[in-house]
Parts: sequence; structure tokens; C-alpha cells
Amino acid sequence: MSDKNFKSGFVAVVGRPNVGKSTLINSLIGQKVLIMSDKPQTTRNKIMCVLTQEDAQILFVDTPGIHKPKHKLGELMVQTAQSTLKEVDVVLMVADGTASFGSGEEYIIEQLRAVRTPVILAINKIDMLSKEAIFPIIRQYQERFDFQAIVPISALEHIQLEALVEEIKTHLEPGPQYYPEDMITDQPERLVIAEMIREKVLHLTREEIPHAIAVEIEEIKTRPNEDLYVRAVIYVERESQKGIVIGAKGGLLKEIGRLAREDVQGLLGSKVYLDLWVKVKKDWRNRDMMLRTLGYKGE
Ligand code: GDP
Ligand code: MG
Repeated sequence: MSDKNFKSGFVAVVGRPNVGKSTLINSLIGQKVLIMSDKPQTTRNKIMCVLTQEDAQILFVDTPGIHKPKHKLGELMVQTAQSTLKEVDVVLMVADGTASFGSGEEYIIEQLRAVRTPVILAINKIDMLSKEAIFPIIRQYQERFDFQAIVPISALEHIQLEALVEEIKTHLEPGPQYYPEDMITDQPERLVIAEMIREKVLHLTREEIPHAIAVEIEEIKTRPNEDLYVRAVIYVERESQKGIVIGAKGGLLKEIGRLAREDVQGLLGSKVYLDLWVKVKKDWRNRDMMLRTLGYKGE
């Protein structure tokens, strides 16, 4: 579709646990999609789903790493979340209207101050509130951050969800329809596996490799012996970074592969053969990186 009026873009969904992020995404998409979100080892991965309408396609990105870090891996997640917030077109913060503003919200807002991406606030669960109760809550949030818009909603009761989507659309640029309209999630395993590998690379190379790496899953197939074969490419921007990721005698890449394989096996429950490659791809824009990681193949 090359219609100039068609808009598309990424929306990062942020908010404390239990405010209703998954419920909102599911209501928007119209069915259960976040299949793996209850497994603890996958909660740190970005899971995307796609909302396609006549005039727009919105790609929602889960951003669990936005929470206060409790451990080292948590810090890494926060860094990843930060780079996500910069790369997306809109941040959608979800808050629970029935709970009072707390340190969880404070912490998220602090991080939102560090990026210039427009932020829309959805105050959720208004089905539990009286009309009069909603305004003071809106004011409370208004005082703390310069939201582009504040939309009171009920994800569960489908109240004001259209208004929310319209508000999101006003902040999207004209763009292509990345995915066919019947696609709701772009092969979640693929995303999760890519994210697991990416995380290992970032973790094991520490500060030496910038966050601008992408992992592309080129192939996933079940072998005759029921093992899963996964071929993935780690894209870096410079030749020197390639050397770092591979390591002396391939040692680091082996370690990346070993740790990622353990995670993937834990997730999928089958034996996995992970075939990892490292390639240099210069001057990638952030968006291309992100699309790559999410499994979208451009020209
Ligand atoms: P997440 O942790 O942010 O993904 O939150 P969930 O989507 O898992 O929701 C947490 C709880 O809040 C669940 O029990 C939901 O049923 C409930 N919930 C979500 N949205 C609403 C809403 O609009 N109204 C009410 N009353 N409950 C909601
Ligand atoms: Mg959730």
C-alpha cells in the first residue's frame, strides 16, 4: 500500500504491572495475543502486536524493562527500554485510575523525561470510577508531566478505546503497511528468540557494543529428530565490533550461543540447535534496526 494518507509507526506501551497493559492490547486487537506473557523468563522481552485499520497500522511494543531495576540484568533491561523509548513514534503510558499515584509512576515518568518522544497517558479502569473521581486524577498526572494527551479508558469494558487509537494516530507519520492486515503478532517465538540473543550479546560485551545491534532470525525449522534448528544473524555496525562479538577463537560467540540456547530451550521446551552468525551492516538507522529485530524484512 503506497497511499500517502496511510500512517504507521511504533508505540511503546509502558506502565506498572497490573495497570492493564495486556488487557488493553488484547482489547484493541480483539483477541488473546500475548500468549507467552505469563512465563516469567519471557517477561523481559519485547512482544509486539499489530493493529491494522483502514488508514493506519500501529505496531505495539511491550516495554517491561521500564521498571525499577532490582538486579544487574534489570539494569540492562532499563537500558534496552530506554533505547526503545527513543526509537518509537509514541509512548503510551498506562496508569491505573483506581490506584493512587506512586513511586512506580514517578520512576517511569522520570525515564520519560529523558526522551523526546511524545507521550500519551491512558488512565485505565475508569469503569470502577465515578465521573467526578476522574478529573482530580487527570489533574494529578498533568501536574507531573507534559503529556500530549490524557485519555481516560476502560480496557476491560472497551470504553474510549477508539478515542485512544485516534489520539495515537495523530502522532504517527505517513508510512507503509508493514504487515498484512490479518497478522496480529509477527511470530512471537521469532521475536523472543531474537531478543534473547540480543540480550546475551549486550550482556556479555558490556559497554563495548552499542545498543544499535540487531538480531535477525533467518530460519527456524524442526529437524527430522524433532530438534529445533534456528539460524540467526547478529548485525553490528563496524568490523571492530564484529571482532568483539566473536571474541578470541570464537569464544565469546560460543558463550552467547550457549546462554541463548539455554533460554530458548527453556522457553520452547524442545532441544535447540542455534546457528549464530555475525555480520557488519553500516549506517543503519534506528528504525531499520528495530524492524530487523522484529522480523520485518525491508528491501
Ligand atoms: P498488566 O500487568 O499491566 O499487563 O495488567 P493486566 O492487563 O494483566 O491487568 C491486571 C488486572 O487488571 C487484571 O485482573 C485485569 O482484568 C484488570 N483490568 C485491566 N483493565 C481493566 C479495566 O479497564 N477495568 C477493570 N475493572 N479491571 C481491569
Ligand atoms: Mg501484562
